[in-house]
Parts: sequence; C-alpha cells; structure tokens
Amino acid sequence: MKLTVLGSGTSIPHARRSSPANWLDTAGGTLLLDMGSAALHRMAEEGCEWWNLDAVWVSHFHLDHFGGVAPFLFGTRYAPQTQGRTKPLTIYGPRGTRKLLTRFDEAGDYKLFKQPFPVEVLEVSPRAEFELFEGLSAETFSTPHTSESLAVRLTEANGTSLVYTSDTGFTDALAGFARAANLFLMECSFFRSKPIARHLELEEAMRLARQSQARRVMLTHLYPEWDGVDIEAEARRLWDGETIEARDGLRIEI
Ligand SMILES: [Zn+2]
Ligand SMILES: [Zn+2]
Repeated sequence: MKLTVLGSGTSIPHARRSSPANWLDTAGGTLLLDMGSAALHRMAEEGCEWWNLDAVWVSHFHLDHFGGVAPFLFGTRYAPQTQGRTKPLTIYGPRGTRKLLTRFDEAGDYKLFKQPFPVEVLEVSPRAEFELFEGLSAETFSTPHTSESLAVRLTEANGTSLVYTSDTGFTDALAGFARAANLFLMECSFFRSKPIARHLELEEAMRLARQSQARRVMLTHLYPEWDGVDIEAEARRLWDGETIEARDGLRIEI
C-alpha cells in the first residue's frame, strides 16, 4: 500500500494543513480515507488519478471529513476525464450517509447521482467485516467522537495492515483494534490539556501506540495549536517506536 497525505489538518483554515483526506494506492484499487472540502483539488495537486478513484471511506459526518463528497460528485458529473468511465465509485460510510447525501442533492437539485458511471453508497455498522474491493478487507470500530464515527482497519491479501482512527476520544479498546498494525494512522488533535474530550492529545496517542504495538504511527488531524512544536521529538519522549508527523504531500510505503 502507498499512502499520500492530502490533508493533515482539521476544520480550521490553515495555510499548510488542509482538511482531512488521505489517498491510498493498493494492489486492488484506490481509496480515499475521508474527503474534506479541499480534497478534490488536493488530489489533482498531488497527481492522484482522481478520475479512477474506486472508493471513498467516510469516517463520520463532520464537514472537515465529509464536505468534499458532494462537490466531488458535482465535478465528476461534468469532468471530461470521467465521461468515458464505466466502473463504479463506491462511497462507504456510517448509517445515515445515504440520507445526508440525498438531502443535500435534493436541496440544490444537483443530480449528483446521475453520473456517467454507477455510484453506490454502502452503509456499514460498527464491528462490520467486509471486502472494500478485491484484495482489501476492512473492519470497523465505533470511536468515542460522534454517535456514527468509525475507525477502520484495512488489510491487504499479503497481510499488510493500516488502521485509520479518524476523529476519536481516548479508549483502551482502540489499541486492541489497532494491534500490530503496519501503520497506525491516528488523530492527535492537541499537544496537551486538550479542550475537547472527544479528541486525542499526545500523551493519549502515545499510550495507544505503546499498547497497540503498532510497527509505525503517523499523527494527523493536527490543530493550529501544533504550529511550532517538534511533534516527532515530543512523541519520542513518550514512546520509543517510530512516529511520523503527517504533512500535506507526504508519501509513504506501508
Ligand atoms: Zn475532524
Ligand atoms: Zn469530527
């Protein structure tokens, strides 16, 4: 798997960190992990083949994670690159994803589902196990963030695994869900003294890193409070494994 960080930030406008989105190349297809409002242009900027995107994972309905979906469908409806496309695009999300997209679509009569290619919306529950596409299996976990928010564990046929928390508060159970993952892509909204319980701060993220015995950790969803802090050095004080600071445009092989 190859991961390209499109957005390492949050809902707050920031010059170097756009809203959450991660492009994943796998042997069986391409997947976008969350689709913040900046995602459609960030895909183009990073040279990702957005017109061939196979699937979108929507972790929850906060607009920094979901706000790019309708604009993307508005774009693919008219883009020259997608007029000859026949393979489907699948949007995976929590229960309620279809209703939310349909209401938005109807509110503006956008015809977002009248595309040159089929668009499917598949809603998944916590603790679901399914094939995202051929050769990529997925498991979900309900996170303490919103009532619908989900973490996902992706495993390729060769056993390589990526766990993406998206937004979450602290729970020990998340470490079990992420056990021995090749990459644990974790939110770490705040450095310390977090103002919101339903996010993580560094000490909690590193506790989860240690408990999970993940091979590598990447910290993302970084609020502007992190500006000027050496995240990787601060992480090393708390955990001796490899921690990577997510930055827009960063690419890593998993
Ligand atoms: Zn968020
Ligand atoms: Zn959120």
